[in-house]
Amino acid sequence: MSAKIIDGNAIAKKIKGELAIQAATLTAHDMKPGLSVILVGNDPASQVYVSKKIKACSEVGIESQCLRFSSSVDPSVVLALIHDLNQDPRVHCILVQLPLPTQFNVSEILESISQSKDVDVFHLYNVGALVVGQTVFPPCTPYGVQRILMHEGIVIEGKNVVVVGASNIVGKPMALMLMQQNATISICHAKTRDLAQYTILADILIVAAGKPALIKAEMVKTGAVVIDVGINRLADGSLVGDVDFQAVAEKASHITPAPGGVGPMTVTMLLHNTVQSAQRAFENRDQAWQAHCENDRYHFCHSDLAAENEEVK
Ligand code: NAP
Repeated sequence: MSAKIIDGNAIAKKIKGELAIQAATLTAHDMKPGLSVILVGNDPASQVYVSKKIKACSEVGIESQCLRFSSSVDPSVVLALIHDLNQDPRVHCILVQLPLPTQFNVSEILESISQSKDVDVFHLYNVGALVVGQTVFPPCTPYGVQRILMHEGIVIEGKNVVVVGASNIVGKPMALMLMQQNATISICHAKTRDLAQYTILADILIVAAGKPALIKAEMVKTGAVVIDVGINRLADGSLVGDVDFQAVAEKASHITPAPGGVGPMTVTMLLHNTVQSAQRAFENRDQAWQAHCENDRYHFCHSDLAAENEEVK
């Protein structure tokens, strides 16, 4: 078998086209979607990630701003800024780029973001809500994987899904989201004994371990769907995933390349969440306006009646 190679860039492009239309409609109604990114320090990888996010925002018509601080900034300054952004109606989502310098209490920063603007789903309320499938937003990377599976028409219900990697940002939310779609889930991690005995049973294998060539062809069931979330930079500067791509592609039915698979979808889901947040704000404003009009009509009718009553008298 030779797998279908899933083109994450093409799927992302299609979704971005739809988001651009939605963003333009919202902008026409004076509700331009807005994302604020907070970047502390000079970590080169963080700078690259943030500039990619900002560029992607401009491609679909999202108003974005990158708020930068030196690595020695007092955390109280960042907390005060987040407080202001929480109140700002032009800001629909807030993202704090991690990692943060050591003087920061990361939980305190993440908890200070309004639950309704918590685009990365790091606030404890949203982490808990994920368990019952009620987050304000779906977390970006797992949602990107979910959209890939949906795009490829891959049925989730009843499937054996193995997630390799149990991080809070990818593995755990991924497992919860697919469990809500009635898959049977196994989660593996660095201390899993004999990883292959799990991966070989997977109808859908999702790998997010950060270990190049961790998954070899003999660990994969013939016809499995293989989603490689990993991004690893090798000594020669090239980027690879966690899956031995060439060999596994001979056995799988579908496979994502890395790069060019999940990565573009993660950024696109960030855009998706920001546009949805603006859509929600628009609907709330619309409802508030309708309620206001209803209220006005009520007063109008009543003042009319009062006037009529006066005339009758
Ligand atoms: P992380 O926080 O380092 O977590 C890695 C997870 O993999 C941990 O649960 C770890 O187990 C497990 N693991 C490590 N070595 C393993 C092994 N040999 N066998 C089985 N499990 C193993 O990393 P992350 O943030 O989840 O990211 C994982 C990878 O995805 C990285 O390469 C990252 O760059 C990439 N990533 C890509 C995107 C994207 O958009 N494409 C987004 C986010 C992350 P323990 O819990 O036991 O330590």
